[in-house]
Amino acid sequence: RIMTTMKKPHILVVPFPQSGHMLPHLDLTHQLLLRGATVTVLVTPQTDPYLDPLRSLHSPEHFKTLVLPFPSHPSIPSGVETLQQLPLEALPHMLEALSGLHDPLVDFLNHQPPWALPDVILGGAFLSPWINKAADAFSLKSIYFLPINAHMISILWDVEHRSFFDEMEAATTASYGLVVNTFYELESEMVEFVRTKYLTHHRIWTVGPLLAVKAGADRGGQSSLPAEKVLAWLDACSEDNSVVYIAFGSQIRLTEEQTAALAAALEASGVRFIWAVRDAAKKVNSGDNSEEDVMPAGFEERVKDKGLVIRGWAPQTMILGHRAVGSYLTHLGWGSALEGMVGGVVMLAWPMQADHFSNAEMLVDELGVAVRVGENKDSVPDSGKLARVLADSVKDDFPVRARFMKLREKGMEAIKEGGSSYNNLDDLVAEMCV
Ligand code: UDP
Repeated sequence: RIMTTMKKPHILVVPFPQSGHMLPHLDLTHQLLLRGATVTVLVTPQTDPYLDPLRSLHSPEHFKTLVLPFPSHPSIPSGVETLQQLPLEALPHMLEALSGLHDPLVDFLNHQPPWALPDVILGGAFLSPWINKAADAFSLKSIYFLPINAHMISILWDVEHRSFFDEMEAATTASYGLVVNTFYELESEMVEFVRTKYLTHHRIWTVGPLLAVKAGADRGGQSSLPAEKVLAWLDACSEDNSVVYIAFGSQIRLTEEQTAALAAALEASGVRFIWAVRDAAKKVNSGDNSEEDVMPAGFEERVKDKGLVIRGWAPQTMILGHRAVGSYLTHLGWGSALEGMVGGVVMLAWPMQADHFSNAEMLVDELGVAVRVGENKDSVPDSGKLARVLADSVKDDFPVRARFMKLREKGMEAIKEGGSSYNNLDDLVAEMCV
């Protein structure tokens, strides 16, 4: 129909190297490829494997890779090329290092024949200050992707004098448009607020909840426990919605005290669970760089009939999508929150840092579709109370479940053909060539 006769864009995708940013950015890229775009993704050697799922699904004529060396930086150990290998405080160093990709990118573009130049750069918003410069030099459009919701964007851009965020706001506002992993029906007023108050170009595309390209094992990393084993364990749970999944994203590691409180709560609750525990060795430069395992002695042995502990990377979207999983104790990183929503698992929120607090404000306090069980990254939950919520969360009559499932329905409608996010994706592809 009309879409198929239109010119299709060539997009240079430049994701910010952290799972919470990169995975949804690549999920977005998949949607654009499905709509006929040609894509080149810029990565560095260590992040190249993130592209494997896309490589396996799209032809090399349409899906290309540009691998540039990671620019060295005095505060980033060699071999570290993603933010989740560092504490969040290392963000400024990471941004500084990545801005070193500007010159090699310009050099690459200079060597392209005019017909091979992209129409648009679809960059991670954190990289917007230098991507804008490269785009301007070749008269390419720049469009940015942010893996947070409109509610958080309004909070972020309301605060002044935070040099980097101001710079990002200015660069994003000066771009052609902004793509956000949220859905219009979830926060239409906030989307309109951001559109009119902050974006001089008024272009904001809400495209979420973006579905995982492949919900299998190799999304964002190799599962440390073979995915087939995890799947077999879940398949053996006869009751639907009976398992609690516990995970705090790619960036957070619990302290020994928090781990002990959570372990005690799980044991007391009697629920079946999968607990993804970040491995200590991944943390460099942080205050807590002990390599010791913080799991209480004997815990795993005692709960072996009920629970599965995964150390390191977990096949999260596969777990959340399984019928046996009913609730999710989460830090409420936005990507994880949307994955929980798509998976239809009720969320127990323990916000830790960054946008987690505003996400909890929205989902717990305003919409009443999730329950708060933790305060911040220093708080230690009361094991007795937590045990009761964990046990209740897998019951059918858990109070927030019905409201949550209604909201989920709206999200799933948004990404169906004819839904708001679906239409916005069509529109985004069309606008790239205008
Ligand atoms: N993730 C995963 N396995 C893990 C930890 C994280 O697959 O063991 C994925 C998760 O599914 C999500 C992303 O990594 O897509 C983390 O996103 P989130 O928004 O939670 O951000 P973070 O807090 O990690 O920055």
